[in-house]
Amino acid sequence: MRIVLVGPPGAGKGTQARFLAENASVPHISTGDLFRAHIDQGTPLGKQAKQFMDRGELVPDEVTVGMARYRLSQPDTAGGFLLDGFPRTVAQAEALDRELKSDRRGLDAVLALEIPAEEAVIRIAGRRVCPGNSSQHVFHVVYNPPKVDGVCDACGGELRHRDDDSEETARKRLEIYRVQTEPIIEFYTSQRLVVTISALGTVDAVTERAMRALADARAAHASVAPGT
Ligand code: AMP
Repeated sequence: MRIVLVGPPGAGKGTQARFLAENASVPHISTGDLFRAHIDQGTPLGKQAKQFMDRGELVPDEVTVGMARYRLSQPDTAGGFLLDGFPRTVAQAEALDRELKSDRRGLDAVLALEIPAEEAVIRIAGRRVCPGNSSQHVFHVVYNPPKVDGVCDACGGELRHRDDDSEETARKRLEIYRVQTEPIIEFYTSQRLVVTISALGTVDAVTERAMRALADARAAHASVAPGT
């Protein structure tokens, strides 16, 4: 399955993406994680991206699209993928369309997570991530605490508060989402790809809702385009 996950910062995209990708047996591709890996490795791309990320702004489209296209050209994406945090602008969505069309691939669904802005700020400010692995396990001090305070359940690494997770930066990222990213929902609605769910409730409840929505989208897709 080829899926795009879209939603404001704090909606739990990363957490849900991990479960959904595992369930669908497809790679989880997060442009945020890819940028953070570049930053950790000190690459020129990482240095360029960090200036924007620290300010809570989007990394320019040409940088982001180049990195995403390269990732999507890797052989492990042949059986599908789950994109988390990409595309984030209409220009990125158009570039993704072109890329997939050139490979005769198409998206199966765009899953949109919805959450009120104030709840998103609370979630972001309490978020703690484990930098000790490439898939960055995510916790929340109240909603999804680790078993031991400040320690990753998965690898025992020390949890950290992301530089761009301050309340002030969170509000800026939410505004950027509203202005620059929300228009992609309309773009994909015109392609009849969008399924929307509420991201409120426990992690398990949202995962269940998401899996049901994706199964429905898959069934609808199969009935429209048999054999694809
Ligand atoms: P995330 O981990 O998805 O919350 O992304 C963290 C930050 O990485 C964002 O606030 C942006 O600065 C940058 N970023 C991630 N994905 C994109 C994208 N598709 N376009 C532009 N910037 C991005």
